[in-house]
Order: sequence, then structure tokens, then C-alpha cells
Amino acid sequence: MTAASSDPSARQSLALVIPVYNEEAVVPMLLSEIAAFRTAHPDVTQVVFVDDGSEDRTVELLQQGTAGRDGYWIVGFSRNFGHQLAITAGLGVVQTDAAVILDADLQDPLPVVAEMMDRWREGYDVVFAVRERREGEPGLKRLAAAAFYRFFRWMADLDMPLDTGDFRLVSRKVIDVYNRIGEQQPFVRGIVSWIGFNQIGIPYVRAPRAAGQSKYTLRKLIKLAMSGLTSFSDKPLRISIRLGIGVALLAVAGLLVALGAALFGGKGVTLSAVLIFVGFFFGGVQLLFLGVVGMYLLRVYEAVKGRPRYIVSSEWRSEGAGDLA
Ligand code: UDP
Ligand code: MG
Repeated sequence: MTAASSDPSARQSLALVIPVYNEEAVVPMLLSEIAAFRTAHPDVTQVVFVDDGSEDRTVELLQQGTAGRDGYWIVGFSRNFGHQLAITAGLGVVQTDAAVILDADLQDPLPVVAEMMDRWREGYDVVFAVRERREGEPGLKRLAAAAFYRFFRWMADLDMPLDTGDFRLVSRKVIDVYNRIGEQQPFVRGIVSWIGFNQIGIPYVRAPRAAGQSKYTLRKLIKLAMSGLTSFSDKPLRISIRLGIGVALLAVAGLLVALGAALFGGKGVTLSAVLIFVGFFFGGVQLLFLGVVGMYLLRVYEAVKGRPRYIVSSEWRSEGAGDLA
């Protein structure tokens, strides 16, 4: 809890956890930025790259660029398991007193990491970075992300900060709890919020991607959003129950009106067309909520199957003689 910044010998070690997937375009730049950062911050003793099944020269470039230096690890997945599991694997192997999760594409600036380390030394267990602005990303993606965070906040039973991705520092305490959780499809930012302890946000401007293309396809983004919602909210299920009750009451009222008309001889009304569409509408609503129930069932099914969440196929460590950078 106490600040240790004045006494360098009391400084604790820190790791960087960086998931990489087909990032050959950005690796050289990334490595030189990290090297400069480690020269200024020798307490960054470990840098873990988790290769999420890259098919390009990412791993080769990482090995070439870090050979002979200290503390670089590459954990290789047997195939593409996704960003969230890559982070999870990284947190599973770091040996330091804290770790910072960041993207490979330099959208998460290293100077912000230094700021996070300062807050950590003041006693915070989680320092998350809040995007004040995002540069160089399509307007539609920014809008969708902003809408998602607000929708999530309304839906979820969790006080998750807005506009905050996985770029964050987590202390050893948090890492140890995270590693015990073992969710099949982890939504990292949600789980870290849920873990609690002393958390604080710092604002930053998200830089544009330094090179290459986004590796988050629309499909992967939707999967991430669905996994966040189904793991932190039961509201969709509650909404479906309320809607079901509402519709049933309406149907009873309609029946009473129709009965009344039949018994007391109102003029015949041609309601059939309207009724068909009403039928279609509620058919659609039923299918939708069947799907919602299915999403939750799927999570249970995944958990019950008990398969490993990811498969590590290789581990590589750089060997240096005290040469951090
Ligand atoms: N990434 C990953 N596996 C994937 C997709 C992405 O490990 O299946 C990594 C990617 O290499 C990067 C980070 O996750 O380090 C964020 O991806 P990206 O920058 O492409 O996402 P965006 O910033 O466009 O949302
Ligand atoms: Mg990016």
C-alpha cells in the first residue's frame, strides 16, 4: 500500500503482456519502443508475447529482435484462440509483481504505462486507461464501441468503467485471483472490474495503429460483446420473462374482447390480416428469446465440456547477460 518510488531498491518488478496475431508489420517498431522503455524503466523485467497462432513472420521477427536480451518470452498457441485468451495465457505465466496488458500495434502508448506504474507504486492494484479520444479509427467503429460500453453498463450487474479496453496494469494480487477464475470465454475487462481491490482510471488518447491492419474482425468484436453480456448480465433473460407475461396478459384481454363481440353480436371485423402479422411478430420475439436462452446455455455447455481454454504449442525465452534493451 505504501509508496516505494523514492527508494529504487524497493522497486518491484513489472511485466508487459502483449498478445500478437499476424503483427509482422509492427513488430520492429514495437521492439524498439519497448527496448527504449526498458532502458528508462529497468524494473520491467519481463516481456511476454503471446502468439495467437500467427501465420506470418511475427514469431520469427520477435525471436530475431530479442535474442541475446533479457526477459523476453514468447508463448505460442497451437492456433488462433483469440485476444482475450492470449491475455489470459500471458497473465498465467508472468512472474512479476505486476503486469501491464497492451496491444502490439502501439495504440496503447508506452508513456501511459509509465504513468500506470506511478499509480501502482502509490498503492493501486488496477490502473486502467480510459480512452478520451481515439485517433485513426473508423467513425462507425468508435460509435459502436461507445454505444456498447453504455449499453453494457445498463445491462450488466457490474460497475465497469466506460470507454476502457484491456490496456491496464494489474498487481500480483489481481493476477493471482484472475488466474484462479478460469472462465471458458473470459471477458478480461469485466472480470478485472469484478475482482475489485483499489482501482483507478487514467485518461489517455488512443493512438492510431502504427502499422498493419486491425486483427479484430467484426465477427470477433460481436463475439467479444456477446461474451461480455452473457457473462455479466442476466437482464436479457429477465426482459424475456417480463415480455412473456405482458404478451400473455394482452392475449387474455384480446380473447375477452373477442368473446364479448361474439356473444353480444358486434359487427364482424376483418382482423385476420392484422392477426397474421401480430402472429409473425410474436413468433419472431419467441425465436429471439429462444436464442438468448441458447446463448446462456452455450456458456454452461462450454464450461461443462471442460476442454482446455487454449493450447500452448511452444515456449521460447530470450537469453541475455543482463541486457534489457
Ligand atoms: N489479437 C490477437 N488475436 C486475435 C486478434 C487480435 O491476439 O485474434 C491481438 C492483436 O495482435 C493486437 C491486439 O490483439 O495486439 C488488438 O488487436 P487489434 O489492434 O487488431 O484490434 P483493434 O485495436 O483494431 O480493435
Ligand atoms: Mg489495435
